[in-house]
Amino acid sequence: MPQQTSETPMMQQYMAIKNQYPDAFLFYRIGDFYELFYDDAIKGSQLLELTLTARNKSAADPIPMCGVPHHAVQSYIDILIDHGDKVAICEQMEDPKTAVGMVKREVIQLVTPGTKMAVKAGEAKSNNYLTAVIAAKHQYGFAYTDLSTGELKVTTLASQFSLQNELAALNTREVVTRPDADAALTALLHQGDRLVSTQADTGAAAEASYVTQGLTDSLQQAVVTLLMQYLLATQKRSLAHIQTAVAYTTANYLEMDQDARVNLDILKNSRTGLKGDTLLSVLDQTKTAMGGRLLKQWLDRPLLDIAAISPRQKRVQDLLDHYFERSELQARLTKVYDLERLAGRVAFGNVNGRDLIQLQTSLDQIPALQEILGKLDDGSFKALREHLDPVADIAGLIRRAIEPDPPISVTDGGVIMRGYNQQLDDYRDAMANSKQWIAELEAQEREATGIHNLRIRYNKVFGYYIEITKANLAKVPAGRYERKQTLTNAERFSTPALKEKESLILTAQESSTALEYQLFQEIRDQVKAQITRLQALAAQVAMLDVLQSFAVVAENNHYVRPVMQAGTHAVTIHGGRHPVVERVLGSQQYIPNDVVMGDDTDVLLITGPNMSGKSTYMRQLALIVVMAQAGSFVPADSAQLPIFDQIFTRIGAADNLAAGQSTFMVEMMEANAALRHATASSLILFDEIGRGTATYDGMALAQAIVEYLHDHVHAKTLFSTHYHELTSLADSLKKLRNVHVGAVEEKGNLVFLHKMMPGPADKSYGIHVAKLAGLPTALLNRADTILTDLEDTAPASADTVAEPPSDTQLSLFTPEPVAPASDPILTKLKQFDLMGATPMDAMNLIYNLQNRL
Ligand code: ADP
Repeated sequence: MPQQTSETPMMQQYMAIKNQYPDAFLFYRIGDFYELFYDDAIKGSQLLELTLTARNKSAADPIPMCGVPHHAVQSYIDILIDHGDKVAICEQMEDPKTAVGMVKREVIQLVTPGTKMAVKAGEAKSNNYLTAVIAAKHQYGFAYTDLSTGELKVTTLASQFSLQNELAALNTREVVTRPDADAALTALLHQGDRLVSTQADTGAAAEASYVTQGLTDSLQQAVVTLLMQYLLATQKRSLAHIQTAVAYTTANYLEMDQDARVNLDILKNSRTGLKGDTLLSVLDQTKTAMGGRLLKQWLDRPLLDIAAISPRQKRVQDLLDHYFERSELQARLTKVYDLERLAGRVAFGNVNGRDLIQLQTSLDQIPALQEILGKLDDGSFKALREHLDPVADIAGLIRRAIEPDPPISVTDGGVIMRGYNQQLDDYRDAMANSKQWIAELEAQEREATGIHNLRIRYNKVFGYYIEITKANLAKVPAGRYERKQTLTNAERFSTPALKEKESLILTAQESSTALEYQLFQEIRDQVKAQITRLQALAAQVAMLDVLQSFAVVAENNHYVRPVMQAGTHAVTIHGGRHPVVERVLGSQQYIPNDVVMGDDTDVLLITGPNMSGKSTYMRQLALIVVMAQAGSFVPADSAQLPIFDQIFTRIGAADNLAAGQSTFMVEMMEANAALRHATASSLILFDEIGRGTATYDGMALAQAIVEYLHDHVHAKTLFSTHYHELTSLADSLKKLRNVHVGAVEEKGNLVFLHKMMPGPADKSYGIHVAKLAGLPTALLNRADTILTDLEDTAPASADTVAEPPSDTQLSLFTPEPVAPASDPILTKLKQFDLMGATPMDAMNLIYNLQNRL
């Protein structure tokens, strides 16, 4: 950054301010523009597609510069923030016309990705979380807030693993830490595309001390203080809407690591990238932005406590049973605006008359909501109804004070209702009377002079004047008017009485807009004093909205209330469906499947050809678990579920090449997370583990992983594999069951039934496909013989299932190991990935083998 001392005073001022915000774009206000200089200008002109010019073009060292007009600044700021940058907004703090010397300038706000408030269309149902982390001995203080809603939560995390999970769960775009954070933490925070900001300890901020009130843990206090210090330093204004910090513990929620969230397409679809193909999109029938955000939070944090889940279920049931009340409820909710964000804007001081009218309209719905809830019979809503506070004082205040259709501006008048303030009404009457007086004067003067087109008009420069066309000038009695201005075809006049009225009107006008603005600010402050109540109300309304959404979805999609059972790990689902695939295919097309894993079954080993529905079946179980623990009904005919504590997944070939890791490395890392962190209460989905490496290697690992899970972890595990050989593990692993996907032949085609059946898949499936493809009968017979030979030697050959370790008894009849087959044709056949092959692959293989015979 060049820093010549020979700079003009303005550039010196610029540099002094810029040096305080080295990592932000400085938007430096000059008149009607915000200007960027030096590197900011070079980078900014590219990102914002602005013309790069220079200040002091003729100088030896011109300064790069570009600018944006002040009225359009928000859209430019948004672009930079969305790009992951920060913007410091520097304003002129005095009127350049009256300023003595350099105009005083100050940064009034530092906008950052995590503190971005402006809500674009489509973002209403999303939170924008700013997080903060402090490392202490073997643990982390972790806090987060959404500046637009004021929500503030804090927890202590015991490991890097849970820190990563929390950062992933919140999808945070910016994390704040202390400048002296150690290298390990800094490296971890920099993973992903989030911005890492630092905030030095600025000492106690009295105005923010209330947020830590309820916290007893010093690490939690410290991290909340860090977060508040950062907010105060960047926002530089009242943060009255930030709520008192609420401590939570991740141990109260179903944990899902980053991979599970991605693989299950809960909020985002990892493959299609579409919002439409997610669990959220199936479940979201919320009517309010607050409800939409809460639904996301519930799906992000399913519960572990049956005592917390069943009240949600009861209320959903209650709403399901009351169709009429539910429709009324929806109609009311539709009229409720974003109370949470309105409250945030009140605190921030940027609400206008229209926002207050939205607030009032929203509050006006609450008594009706209470009445509707009163009609739901079993009392599940009694407490909620009693907690609904219509904040009637504020609704009444706005009704009395604010025009029903006010202008956007709050400084130009027209916002406050007549009858609210006597002084204001007097000013307005004075204006109205004077205008009336002028109208009468016009009539009188026309009569007195006989000039029919005599007009009294107004403009900003000359005020009120009498206008008489040239043709009629002769009719004006001498000395009646004072001349004001001459135009080509008219003269403008005034009179002392008209001048007096004019000044009365203008003073009244000025006083009235000034008074209106003052009244508006007072009203805003009165609303601000009730922010806590508005926030509490918002929380209740959001909950009601999510519950009605669950009810509607349950009814439309034929979901059932799952029975949650403590003290068991048994799963019994009849007629279960994948909520998203079912919707995409239509319920006619979707084949329901049972999942029965009693105390005698920990591992289901799933075999079947590609595209037969294995991974859909696995995801289906996980999604049903997430839905059930979030309090929703589930897509099944009946479901009895235990409470799961964590879900781990290894599904599909989601390459992580960007991070420079091979597919197989990613696969092993995901598997490792499950093997190390899962408990007997966890759910594990492993799809085609071992596929990313050589056949023997992969199969050996797959088998060892199954054995390890079975013997040491005891989690409920769905394990799909194309290593058919693993199916014989059922003989040695007591709690492992084989299931497969059924297929039938129909008019010469092999049709997958998408139906799970007991037992392993048919091994001669490939030959069957070859037959359907019309290969010569002699060849097929030969292939059958070869397969039988292989099966006979299988238990001993190198690529088949190895003996389970230790405690398994060796059978007397186990054939002696023999040397691996040396026939190249047999070797080829054996290496062929039957379960992973297409019919065409099978044909090619057979064709090649045939040529060698
Ligand atoms: P696999 O994991 O065996 O390769 P998938 O689970 O990806 O197979 O399923 C492949 C396709 O089969 C899915 O995209 C879906 O269209 C269809 N499918 C899966 N399960 C079912 C089902 N139960 N009913 C109907 N169609 C299904």
